[in-house]
Amino acid sequence: MVKAVVGANWGDEGKGKITDMLAKEADIIVRFQGGANAGHTIVNDYGKFALHTLPSGCFYSHTTSIIGNGVALNIPILFNEIKSIMERGVPQPKILVSDRAQMVMPYHILFDQYEEERLGGKSFGSTKSGIAPFYSDKYAKIGFQVSELFDEELLKEKVVRICETKNVLLEHLYHKPLLDPHELLETLHQYREMVEPYVCDVSSYLWNAIKEGKEILLEGQLGTLKDPDHGIYPMVTSSSTLAAYGAIGAGIPPYEIQKVIVVCKAYSSAVGAGAFVSEIFGDEADELRKRGGDGGEYGATTGRPRRMGWFDCVASKYGCRLQGATDVAFTVLDVLGYLDEIPVCVGYEIDGEVTTDFPTTSKLEKAKPVLKYLPGWKTDIRGIKKYEDLPENCRNYVEFVEEQIGFPITMVSNGPGRNDIIYR
Ligand code: GDP
Repeated sequence: MVKAVVGANWGDEGKGKITDMLAKEADIIVRFQGGANAGHTIVNDYGKFALHTLPSGCFYSHTTSIIGNGVALNIPILFNEIKSIMERGVPQPKILVSDRAQMVMPYHILFDQYEEERLGGKSFGSTKSGIAPFYSDKYAKIGFQVSELFDEELLKEKVVRICETKNVLLEHLYHKPLLDPHELLETLHQYREMVEPYVCDVSSYLWNAIKEGKEILLEGQLGTLKDPDHGIYPMVTSSSTLAAYGAIGAGIPPYEIQKVIVVCKAYSSAVGAGAFVSEIFGDEADELRKRGGDGGEYGATTGRPRRMGWFDCVASKYGCRLQGATDVAFTVLDVLGYLDEIPVCVGYEIDGEVTTDFPTTSKLEKAKPVLKYLPGWKTDIRGIKKYEDLPENCRNYVEFVEEQIGFPITMVSNGPGRNDIIYR
């Protein structure tokens, strides 16, 4: 069976933890989109890890971790990650890289930086990992596929051709040093050496695995609201964050994705710019940020403090719907145990009208949150294993959210560890 694990909102919902937990029963874990711009934080028997490229299942020796064709593959980052987890005692993970994955090139990272500099205050808050230039090139059909590393003639010719185009921009738009085709070719030879042992025809591998009845997890990055089509465009990422894209970014038939586990955090957080209707500020936000996640809500890759807010039923209902949730995993509920009452955003007021439908970006900018206050439970719920054993107000919170979003919450996460999970 194929299951997708994806985010309902802006990302950082705890997908890494849920994937790591489900990976116990899985044979294969596939990353199908995104790049090294965001990260997953995973706490397990080996310690605490922030991964950016490796799939979250790489800590188990029984799983195969796959970088699908939809990923923006940064080869040096992938190999440093493999090295760094092995240095901390994790056994060599089994890794396959799609021969159709495209590579983040050193100049993508430079162009990301140069463009942010050029835009100044009008920037999109990029993490400068080269993701937007990478996907632009992919769809402009000037990207480099892993398979092309193994065709020397093609590679030489293409490197010269691409450098010509890029150098026009470097010289006249950005006024920066030009690319040297010999140097770039040399870098690509190094990439070839690093990646060669792992290269695989992934869609064929997965086709056979599905036929053999293997358990496959598709691991998404970020969440619905960062999807380029259905998110808060243009403050979005450059590849689709939806479960549906899992079929494309892994290379499997869409009907094989039978379960879509949408991870949804018990409060909100976001990084980067863009409308965030239930956002809170000042001491209220600092308190939640400090207590949030596992050791505070700070970016796994960038260390940036995350923007904080109350749970947003409007955004989460929309987020779950676009993902096609069969199950909702409701995470980080334990963090809310300090509050006397818990505000929840149940509607958006836009131009004097209240709606529960998530609007397009220009209307979203005008939306004000309609808040409802639910009583808190004022206890630490970590360690509780059965749903019935949660305090009544805590169960009421879960059930209220479930009714508002309209999708079943089948898992409640009450701590960062693998076993901190309550099934309903
Ligand atoms: P991802 O990108 O969606 O995987 O999200 P993050 O890596 O930002 O994960 C969110 C943070 O919350 C991580 O530090 C996790 O260890 C932590 N976390 C996940 N689930 C829970 C939970 O139920 N309770 C607490 N306290 N922390 C959690």
